[in-house]
Amino acid sequence: MATILVLEDDSDLSSLISTHLTGMQYRVDVCHHGAKGLQQAIANPYDLIILDLGLPEMDGLDVCKRYRASNELTPILMLTARNTELDKVIGLEMGADDYLGKPFSIRELQARVKAMLRRHSLLSKKFEPESNAEIVVNQDLCLDPAKRQVKCRSTLIDLTAREFDLLFFLASNPGRVYNREQLLDKIWGYSNSYYEHTINSNINRLRSKIELDPARPEYILTVRGVGYKFFDG
Ligand code: CA
Repeated sequence: MATILVLEDDSDLSSLISTHLTGMQYRVDVCHHGAKGLQQAIANPYDLIILDLGLPEMDGLDVCKRYRASNELTPILMLTARNTELDKVIGLEMGADDYLGKPFSIRELQARVKAMLRRHSLLSKKFEPESNAEIVVNQDLCLDPAKRQVKCRSTLIDLTAREFDLLFFLASNPGRVYNREQLLDKIWGYSNSYYEHTINSNINRLRSKIELDPARPEYILTVRGVGYKFFDG
């Protein structure tokens, strides 16, 4: 079942959208605030985000820009009352994938959502751990796929959904070398080399969260000229 985040501060409109998308068998979360919605979007592996341009605290363009800067590739459908060509161009430049001007018909929205999800699922396949068994490395690092929790030196580590998937995938295959394109394909479902910087920044963030000295990593090792591998003892 596809999961969709609706970021829209108008509660009548957001519940209308939510009702109709739930009726199409999607799981829908609604958030009314920009900053909170951004956090929610990064922390959960959504299949689609419907993002209103005019939001309190942080507007839709800012949310979009920051979301993409955190290297999340989930498609974004932007909604706006400011239905001008310029807004459309800026929205798409900030990383939105499609655009719907208010007022719109619910049928139009449903058609767009369906098309975007179909397009995205053709391009991507979600990472699913093959086993739910915990992985423990050197007594220091413990990965629990059932709870999606990581403990490092007895401290619970806060990871984004993608960071967890990437770490779990690497740790499930210790010693095996992966290049960036392979990791992108495995975790994000994209094998477009345009996004390879996404891997670098996720690896850097992971290292800063789990390595004692991120400059001299012990878990996620660089294989020069190729890519990365996980510590294999
Ligand atoms: Ca609004």
